[in-house]
Amino acid sequence: MNSKPATVVLSFDIEEHHRIEAAAHLEPASETTAIYGQRMEATTRRLLDQLAAAGAPATFFIVGEIAQSHPQLVRAIAGAGHEIGSHSHNHRRIRRLTPEQFREDLRRSIDALQQVAGVPVVGYRAPTFSVTRATAWAVDILAEAGLKYDSSVFPVRHDRYGVPDAPRTPFWLCGERGKILELPPATYRRFGQNLPVAGGGYFRLFPLAFLRAGVNQLANAGAPGVLYFHPWEFDPGQPKLPLGALSKFRTYVGIGKSTARLGRILDRYRGRFRRCIDVAGELGDDLPSFKIGD
Ligand SMILES: [Zn+2]
Repeated sequence: MNSKPATVVLSFDIEEHHRIEAAAHLEPASETTAIYGQRMEATTRRLLDQLAAAGAPATFFIVGEIAQSHPQLVRAIAGAGHEIGSHSHNHRRIRRLTPEQFREDLRRSIDALQQVAGVPVVGYRAPTFSVTRATAWAVDILAEAGLKYDSSVFPVRHDRYGVPDAPRTPFWLCGERGKILELPPATYRRFGQNLPVAGGGYFRLFPLAFLRAGVNQLANAGAPGVLYFHPWEFDPGQPKLPLGALSKFRTYVGIGKSTARLGRILDRYRGRFRRCIDVAGELGDDLPSFKIGD
């Protein structure tokens, strides 16, 4: 089954913990946001050390406001040879924005990150994978923004995100006028559905065998396994947000084991890690096309 060598993309969505979708209804006090900001920076720096020890390059999709609040951190990430991508300007989900607001949010985030990091930003990951059927209008704006790729279309069925019928391997994401290369997060096709093994609860709760099986399937299809993580997933000591029972479980399950689990992934795929920008540069024009909603 493991016939072709895998390519693995480690991507980190850099945001403070209170920005998560499950907490969107909460209005955190300024002391809370300051604490989460400090913890985000400290945890991200630990992750940088862990990646450096393993010699693994990664892609960091960063909230634009963090370029303004933590410029040294953004420069440290870029200085370590990792790719800087946009994770929106202030982590509002696309469906909460008008097309004009989305265009402006994207532009502001790219400008802020480029200015601080001193490197071009060519990739985007939407907050909570919010490029979906309801926000298909966003594709043309992404295509027109001068980006090389997007990594926001999760080909899974989920209550908060997902385009279940989207390809599992890289494809041209088509809008009404333009198109953009899409690098979908990794899935494992099993029991007639796509399991979201790229990260989240699957990374923290399920045996890593699921993740490896998904990466193997993708490798055999000639595709990279794009994984995603957040700094707050590696910070078991952080103050917990006052979430409902289901959100609490989804958010915090397995958090104490994440650092060790990432270590196992770094060992297993040593030498096989690429950044999104590297993968995007090698894909040809002969990829399948897909339009959300068709
Ligand atoms: Zn996010």
